[in-house]
Amino acid sequence: MKFSCPHCDQHIDAPDESAGQQVNCPTCAKPVCLPQPLQTPKASGFPDWLRWVLVLPTAIVCSIVARLAGEINLYMFPFLSDSFVQFWNCIMGSAFLVVGGAQSAPKHRFIVALTLTVVWAIFSGVGIAMFFLTGKHSDPLFLWYFVCDGGGIVATVIVCVVYHQMETKARLKDALARVP
Ligand SMILES: [Zn+2]
Repeated sequence: MKFSCPHCDQHIDAPDESAGQQVNCPTCAKPVCLPQPLQTPKASGFPDWLRWVLVLPTAIVCSIVARLAGEINLYMFPFLSDSFVQFWNCIMGSAFLVVGGAQSAPKHRFIVALTLTVVWAIFSGVGIAMFFLTGKHSDPLFLWYFVCDGGGIVATVIVCVVYHQMETKARLKDALARVP
């Protein structure tokens, strides 16, 4: 890792593993914080185009697996009520839909998370509308479906906020590392 001392512009060559440590410049003896290496996208076995193609399938598979895990909970913890597990499955199924899709994307994960959230909200909205249209809203179960779907959408929004925070932090870190 090569960089310049911010005080005297002396070129310093330091081993990569000392990134982030504070040392004294060999020329002016002032304390210098060794820069973190620029963030490079994580190497993965898949090329970017394939990861983009896999965003939706990964999202759906993650969502189904999260829901199945909830069903297993029902057997492991028989004291949990069916309604609670249904709610939990809605939350987990929705959250993991967004996380699975966003993690598959090689970059722009916040935008991917946001898009999946909007698509999911539309699907849930259509489901609720169908419930209304078929006259099942007199069913007391309807309110619970509504709560579950609403909870699922809140969960996806929270996931989006987390991705936004992470990307903002990564950008900030990247910008700081580029400061000469
Ligand atoms: Zn110096």
